[in-house]
Amino acid sequence: MTRKVYDVIVVGTGAGGGMAIKTLCEGGLNVLALNSGRRLDPDRDFGNHRQPYDLEYRGFGNPKTREQRFPVETEVTADKGIWEHEITYTVAPGSKWTWTRCAAVGGMTNFWGRSCPRFGEIDFKAGSLDGFDDEWPMTYEEIAPYFSRVEKMIGVASTVQNRPSNPDGEYLPPIEFRCLDHIVRKGAEKVGIPYLPDRLAQLTVPHNGNAECHYCGECTSGCDVGAFYSTPWHFLPPAEETGKLELRTYAHAKNVLVDEDGCAKGVAYIDRKSGQEVEAYSKAVVLAASCCETAKIMLNSKSRHWPTGIANSSGQVGRNMSDDLYGTPVYGYLPQLLGQPSRPDNVTEATIGWMPRWQNLKNPREEKFIRGYSVYAFGGCGVFPYYHDQLEGFGSRLKRDIKRYYPAPISFVIQAPSLPSEHNYMDIDPEVKDKFGIPAARFTSNGVRTNC
Ligand SMILES: Cc1cc2nc3c(=O)[nH]c(=O)nc-3n(C[C@H](O)[C@H](O)[C@H](O)COP(=O)(O)OP(=O)(O)OC[C@H]3O[C@@H](n4cnc5c(N)ncnc54)[C@H](O)[C@@H]3O)c2cc1C
Ligand code: SF4
Repeated sequence: MTRKVYDVIVVGTGAGGGMAIKTLCEGGLNVLALNSGRRLDPDRDFGNHRQPYDLEYRGFGNPKTREQRFPVETEVTADKGIWEHEITYTVAPGSKWTWTRCAAVGGMTNFWGRSCPRFGEIDFKAGSLDGFDDEWPMTYEEIAPYFSRVEKMIGVASTVQNRPSNPDGEYLPPIEFRCLDHIVRKGAEKVGIPYLPDRLAQLTVPHNGNAECHYCGECTSGCDVGAFYSTPWHFLPPAEETGKLELRTYAHAKNVLVDEDGCAKGVAYIDRKSGQEVEAYSKAVVLAASCCETAKIMLNSKSRHWPTGIANSSGQVGRNMSDDLYGTPVYGYLPQLLGQPSRPDNVTEATIGWMPRWQNLKNPREEKFIRGYSVYAFGGCGVFPYYHDQLEGFGSRLKRDIKRYYPAPISFVIQAPSLPSEHNYMDIDPEVKDKFGIPAARFTSNGVRTNC
């Protein structure tokens, strides 16, 4: 029997894989997509406007599995095989690392925060501006047309802001500011800090055949109408329409297969339902299984040509792991809104406004630190009064206070880049294997607790 050879095998169907799949299929190539977990069914798997009182554990999730859950899992999305808890990883002694993984088709795009500002020239040139690390091997001017192309494809809502840190893109109308955003904007202006509409891949108007947002505020448990960008709603349907895509679910990639010249010729994966190893063949392979899983697959792809893992002759695969740093949230309340009538204004379950970087813009060393950070504001009348444990008292007084504060609480979170460090890396654990016999990823980090 002649074996089938696809043009391309794409491993992963999230943000990276979804874009590759759509582009390659629309370009006329035969694509085999491998995804570790299952397809999601929005009717069964997403929030669908259920209130905490409709849920068995009132939104807190099953206490038996609470300890093992990632912070991003909600009661609706937990304990269903959507998030990856089966494939083992290890953490080196003295390190802390939480590896948040979404196994479902579409990966993290099913539940992401939708904030997608552009990088600016000060990011690409940061290395030479402040002398720490190397410059990126590309300029903003070179990449700007690709930012535009993606923004037009996925639909990003925002405004033209003329900020040097995050250049403007091609936007749908922004989400309207609410009372709390106007109050924050006024206060921020007084101290010279910008508070502007975030860049959100959330549809304020119908776009490319996808429905507009109805502001139910349940994005973290999945969108039942596909009104924010995710690959299962936006990219996989057009790819499937070409007739060029074969998607295999429960297909957990193990390693890249190479030919006698050391070039990729396919992928070995585990069929998670049967536990059997399967080989699939192609002329090219795209690894897009998320950052660290991709590195794990590469490091596990050893051959005579690639004794330390495929394309790892530099030894840099898995090194200098960098993730966003999130500063401890600041909680408070807006006295102007205390006791005011509540409104259904928790419209995105995330942020509407942001304070884009305002530090080190003129001179990279204006501040006592290099680079910069953004601040996001969270607030609005959410379905659950998350501030309940910050109020004193009990019984009817506590209930009264919860109601009085309901429209007023607000919190701020800072998001900053982490600098590359040789002390932060992942490699392959020499001893531990997962349940399918694949050598496990091992994380070493310099004490900072990190996600993703
Ligand atoms: C709650 C949350 C909020 C976020 N908010 C934002 C935000 O506001 N802005 C932003 O820019 N980013 C945000 N992110 C991060 C963003 O979602 C990710 O950076 C992005 O999705 C990464 O894309 P990816 O393709 O590399 O990985 P993923 O989207 O995770 O996709 C990886 C895919 O590979 C599959 N896979 C994994 N291992 C294997 C294997 N061995 N074999 C086969 N398939 C495999 C997975 O099932 C998945 O489908 C957020 C993430 C989370 C979880
Ligand atoms: S707020 Fe909008 S994008 Fe979010 S889940 Fe509801 S309809 Fe979807």
